[in-house]
Amino acid sequence: MDDVRVGIPRALLYHEYAALWTTFLSGLGAEVVVSDPTSKTILDEGVKAAVDEACLPVKVFYGHVLDLCRKGVDYIFLPRVVSVERRAFSCPKLLGLPDMIRHNLRPFPYLIDETVNLSRKPRQLYGALWRVAAPITRNPLRIAQAWRRATKAHAEFQDRLRCGYIPGIQAAGASGGAIFTEMGRADAAGAPGLTVAVIGHSYNVYDRHISLDIVSKLRQWGVHVVTADMVPHQLVQEEMERMPKDLFWSTGRRVLGSAYYLLRSRAVDGLVHLVSFGCGPDSLVGELVQRRAARLRTTPFLLLTLDEHSGEAGLVTRLEAFMDMVGVARR
Ligand code: SF4
Repeated sequence: MDDVRVGIPRALLYHEYAALWTTFLSGLGAEVVVSDPTSKTILDEGVKAAVDEACLPVKVFYGHVLDLCRKGVDYIFLPRVVSVERRAFSCPKLLGLPDMIRHNLRPFPYLIDETVNLSRKPRQLYGALWRVAAPITRNPLRIAQAWRRATKAHAEFQDRLRCGYIPGIQAAGASGGAIFTEMGRADAAGAPGLTVAVIGHSYNVYDRHISLDIVSKLRQWGVHVVTADMVPHQLVQEEMERMPKDLFWSTGRRVLGSAYYLLRSRAVDGLVHLVSFGCGPDSLVGELVQRRAARLRTTPFLLLTLDEHSGEAGLVTRLEAFMDMVGVARR
């Protein structure tokens, strides 16, 4: 069973779980094939194949699955991630993704679409690991070792993100230096020049094509860039505990909590929020962040809505105007 080729779409939750998934599957003995970075072809194919109501990241996901179909994989790894923490869940589009893909794309390799729901039943994970491994190996020792290595790789990946590593933009392993501590030091790393936060779903911020490479553009202008992953989990949690009502979308919590923290602590000179057209959670979180920024009036704020028609020229114009505003506010 060692020749099984398993494809992983380089989209959506891959941007958070790349190290975990690739280490686990290759540790089981599979040949792991990751789709190419998002390109115009992948985006166009995804837009054509997806249902009209889908958000941009889901459309891009379709394009990555088609890319893997061309690469001739035996299986596509598409876990149905319902929840990875207590009382917080993935959005409905992520929950329905395996069904949408199976229904819309045919003929099609087999899906490994095991459900992961750790909200109430953390022990459910062990059964899920066994079932994911089944097409590749049934050796319990090998499964346990692969999982141990995978969780270690995931923890290291998370640490690098916190220290300023931006996947897809920096060389793997490089980091930009620690920014915040658990105690909430908010001096923007003491970096010279301006510091701007680019906040949004990891699959928007870390995908250079979707984000129109906004992080690289800011860096070319000498701006120090901060992402939501650089804000420690504890600070995000504290911000969320101040909310009158709990927000139960996992990715929305991280975006909202980190944005609130950065605004309240004045840790950055400007804040850019990337939202996806067609995203229900973003429409709420975007509104909340925008209102908080307007109320506090401490940090220039820019909301950018991304869709398949977003053009680079328009983005650069808006970004230049925003950076002028950030520069004036800093003086
Ligand atoms: S959270 Fe929004 S952008 Fe992400 S998959 Fe769900 S609808 Fe799409």
